[in-house]
Order: sequence, then structure tokens, then C-alpha cells
Amino acid sequence: MKDTNEFSEKTKKNLMLRAAHRCSLPNCRKLTIRPHSDGVNAVITGRAAHICGKAPNSARYLATQTPEERSSQSNGIWVCGDDHDGIDKDELKYPVEVLLDWKAKHELWVGQEDLVPKLPWFKLTTFNGLALPSNGSFSVSGSDNIRFRDHELTLTASSRHELVDLHLRIQFPERIVSCEVGSQVAGNEIYARPDRIQFVASFTGGGQVERIGELPPTNLWVITIARLLTNRPICLRLRSIEFEESSSFQKSITGRPDHCYTHIIGKYLYEDRQQYFEREFVAVITVDKGRSFAIHPSEEPGIRPLIVSHST
Ligand SMILES: [Zn+2]
Repeated sequence: MKDTNEFSEKTKKNLMLRAAHRCSLPNCRKLTIRPHSDGVNAVITGRAAHICGKAPNSARYLATQTPEERSSQSNGIWVCGDDHDGIDKDELKYPVEVLLDWKAKHELWVGQEDLVPKLPWFKLTTFNGLALPSNGSFSVSGSDNIRFRDHELTLTASSRHELVDLHLRIQFPERIVSCEVGSQVAGNEIYARPDRIQFVASFTGGGQVERIGELPPTNLWVITIARLLTNRPICLRLRSIEFEESSSFQKSITGRPDHCYTHIIGKYLYEDRQQYFEREFVAVITVDKGRSFAIHPSEEPGIRPLIVSHST
């Protein structure tokens, strides 16, 4: 006789597909499908578990439910074989509210295509004029206005994942004279510094090495950001000065975005199932004739698991 409390094939399939063939338990999310060794078929290793049990002696059984309610899609959750056994036997560890919450969160996770976080979103804006400090006096000459340019670089986490340990290496189209953090979350650590080659004097005998004068600004900078939270963009204010000596350099990056070699190379970590993964990316910076900068992110597939212990 047909068990009217059991899920129909259609319901099982819907649960399986809505879970994207993955276990719905947040610390598992194991794939529940694999290729059959016959080279043709697939083996489904997951199962639809009852949230409220289907028989009087089963976990979370609710006597007031009708067979239709018991076998409805809303009473099911897609899980791997191992977790199915646990869910069936331990209602203290897996109460109804917890299973419903995990199911909803898992479907949300699948729906946002967030199995791998999207790359951070960059925006680079060049201002028409110099930004004045909010306090204190500041004088600007006409030549300053011509030589300097102010830019704003905004980084936004474009998916639900928090990105950690961002490391950006910028090769800017002009020398950067200053870099300030325009907005940041308290407790976040953001550092920006010129990425200089350290020249080491080599000589024999005694002597003294002395640096004379200030080092000129460089267009190579390193920026590190401890964490980039969802909906909390980080904004950096950059001031650049035109390369005086290299009109050829300017020409090579103008109008040739496909061959442009000014860029941001970066990497960051994200957490999934208590493990950290590293992703790398490149974003190309272009300049137009009016020295307005723009940024063109391009995805670089560079995902690899890292041996990083999970801090709890
Ligand atoms: Zn599982």
C-alpha cells in the first residue's frame, strides 16, 4: 500500500533541485550527486528528510498534521545520506525550527549564486579639481591645479561573503603623492604605503651612507585591508602627479586599454564551511586624454584552498 505520508517523486525532485544537489546543513553542503562509473548515468546520494516525522515513532512527529501536510514540500529538507540518518534519529540536535531555518538559508545561498563570492566591485573616479581638506588653511596655485589630480577609489563587496585579508598592489598611471582612507568601519585595519625597491649600498671598507633629500613619489603602492564587509564600501582618496619625464609612458596607456599595463592586482580570502579560500583578480586602469582614470575589473580564476586555521 502506498505510504500517503511519504514525499512524491516530484516533491523529492523539487527539494533536490532547489538545494542545488547540495546538503542543506550549513556546515556540510556536500554535493549529493556524482557521475556513475558506467559513464552514462548519475548517482544521487542525497535524500529528502521529513522536518516533522512521517510516522508516530519518528523524530519531530506531529500528530495534528494531515498526510498531505506531512508529505508536502514545505515539510521536507534536502540533505546528504550521513545527515539524513542523524536528522532522523536526533530531534534534540535537529528541532523543527532549526531545520526550517537551515532550509531557508540554504535556498537563499543557492539563489544568490554565492557558492563562490563575486569579486569586489571597484570604482575609480577622477575629480575635476582638487579636494580641499575639511579643516585648516590650504593654498592651491594654478600650477598645482594642473599638475595634481584627485581620485576616489571605492571597493565594495558585491556578494554576501565578507572578504578578508585583501592585498592590493596598484600600478597607477601617475605617481601617487598621498593616499587617505575616506571611510572605514571601526576596528578595520587599512594600510596604504608606497611599494619601493629598497636600494642597498654596497661598498668595501668603512664609510657612511646618507640619504639626501626626499624620495620622489612613486606610482607603485600597496594597500592592505583587513576585512571588506557587505554593504560597507571602503573609499580611498588618492592624489596623483603627472609624470613629467615620460610623455611616451603617457601615450602607451592612452587609448589602448587592451594593452594597458597600469592595473590593480589583488587577492583576498573568503570563508566557506569553516575553510578559507584564496581568490586573485586583476583590474585594469585606463586614462583618457584629459587625465581622467577609469577601472575595468576582469575576473581571474584563481581559487585554491589555503591551509589557514579557522579562528573561533
Ligand atoms: Zn550533509
